[in-house]
Amino acid sequence: MLFRRDLRLADHPALAAACTAHARVLPVYLHAPHEEAPWEPGAASRWWLHRSLETLRERLSAQGAVLHVARGDDLPTLRALIAASGASAVYWSRRYEPAAIAQDTALKTALRADGVAVHSVPGNLWCEPWQVATAEGQPYRVFTPYWRKLRTQLPVEPPLPAARAREWLLLPDNLPLEALQLLPRIAWAGGLAECWRPGEAGAQELLEVFADDALAGYADGRDLPARHGTSRLSPHLHFGEITPRQILHALQARVERIDARRRPDIEPYLRELGWREFAHHLLYHFPGTPGENFNPRFDAFRWADDDRAALHRWQRGRTGIPLVDAGMRELWHTGWMHNRVRMIVASFLTKNLRQHWLHGARWFWDTLVDADLASNTLGWQWVAGCGADAAPYFRVFNPVTQAAKFDAEGSYLKRWLPELAQAPRELLQQPWKDSGLLARSGYPAPMLDLAQSRQQALAAYQTLRTQ
Ligand SMILES: Cc1cc2nc3c(=O)[nH]c(=O)nc-3n(C[C@H](O)[C@H](O)[C@H](O)COP(=O)(O)OP(=O)(O)OC[C@H]3O[C@@H](n4cnc5c(N)ncnc54)[C@H](O)[C@@H]3O)c2cc1C
Repeated sequence: MLFRRDLRLADHPALAAACTAHARVLPVYLHAPHEEAPWEPGAASRWWLHRSLETLRERLSAQGAVLHVARGDDLPTLRALIAASGASAVYWSRRYEPAAIAQDTALKTALRADGVAVHSVPGNLWCEPWQVATAEGQPYRVFTPYWRKLRTQLPVEPPLPAARAREWLLLPDNLPLEALQLLPRIAWAGGLAECWRPGEAGAQELLEVFADDALAGYADGRDLPARHGTSRLSPHLHFGEITPRQILHALQARVERIDARRRPDIEPYLRELGWREFAHHLLYHFPGTPGENFNPRFDAFRWADDDRAALHRWQRGRTGIPLVDAGMRELWHTGWMHNRVRMIVASFLTKNLRQHWLHGARWFWDTLVDADLASNTLGWQWVAGCGADAAPYFRVFNPVTQAAKFDAEGSYLKRWLPELAQAPRELLQQPWKDSGLLARSGYPAPMLDLAQSRQQALAAYQTLRTQ
């Protein structure tokens, strides 16, 4: 059983199939990040991976199993493991990124030619990307009709219990996790450790908390960055520590028990899970989109020249625009950012600064614990205006009015911008209105004029339209 981004024992169809069909099972984690190039896991993902593998190893060892850790090119490493164990079959959960599909297809062909059975099993999505299609059998490009179709295909089967092999195989030459060198050398990951508990148990715990607290007010609460109004399950979903099916069943069971007035909130939550599915649908059908505009008309768009200094200020939360800086600092400290703030910082980078969306996508890739090729590509292209079913380019988020609307008390800004914690509420969103406040607090002056840069962005877009 080859574990990759399915780091759990429960509701694991591939593991369950291996344990049912075979008397002895060898659980393996095979580290080959170079085979995911050019999107090898970033620093935050590597931190998460290390911690998640630790917990998977503990869960397995409670059953008397040892997670066999190996590293190297997939095929030769697997062949060596097959030779050493005498395995007759290999099981894994399907992956959907273009490099992973190419890799797994080649592995399957080579292993089958060696006489080894290969089982590539679904399990991390609610629906396989090709199972939802238009009446003409084409992929969807617009979310709402896609969602209408997907919504009718809710998984009805209950989640599987944790799988257990009749006998777990052990092999010598097991690498310690530290040999994979996944943890960052700098002290940066302290913030991540404060905020997250990677692994299956951590995911179930978050699900419980969400179902008890935030689900009831999700429809409104999900837009307020100061609140824990969303599930924060995205990194757990990305690493396959929890499945959409487990979430759906847990929430449905909960909803049936709770007050009817709270029930409508499950629907917007399911819709968000639907966006994750849509992202995978798009990535599967349009595998070039992590690096190319989904809408080729944007190939002619006049981005500003690459501006490393501006990019650096954006990355470090020093733009002088409070809501943008708060979001970027939240990301740096916690490895996560609230969805509304993700849209605002992305709009600032691609529209006010007119930097190519790939600069932002790459920074998110390195710093998000939930960095996911499908969702990150969809999110960046959606905001930049060049994606499938994207926000129109002329929709430029105004961070000042967004802060006034979604962080009216300023709690989110104060949390992430401690130098402005004492600022009067009316200045918190626009501290540049008082030069004395900037001087006293050390908070930077804005790097650009929001209204003027918006006009410049719209003018650049206008030339694209007339071309
Ligand atoms: C520029 C940009 C980049 C993004 N990059 C990523 C990324 O790399 N990885 C990632 O998982 N999400 C990404 N998102 C989507 C979204 O911001 C996160 O999924 C969400 O904030 C995760 O928080 P949550 O688990 O509390 O979400 P909840 O509101 O609790 O939603 C439940 C689940 O639905 C899924 N989901 C919610 N919103 C979206 C969405 N817009 N697109 C796809 N799936 C969604 C997630 O898996 C999430 O865990 C990005 C959004 C933007 C605007």
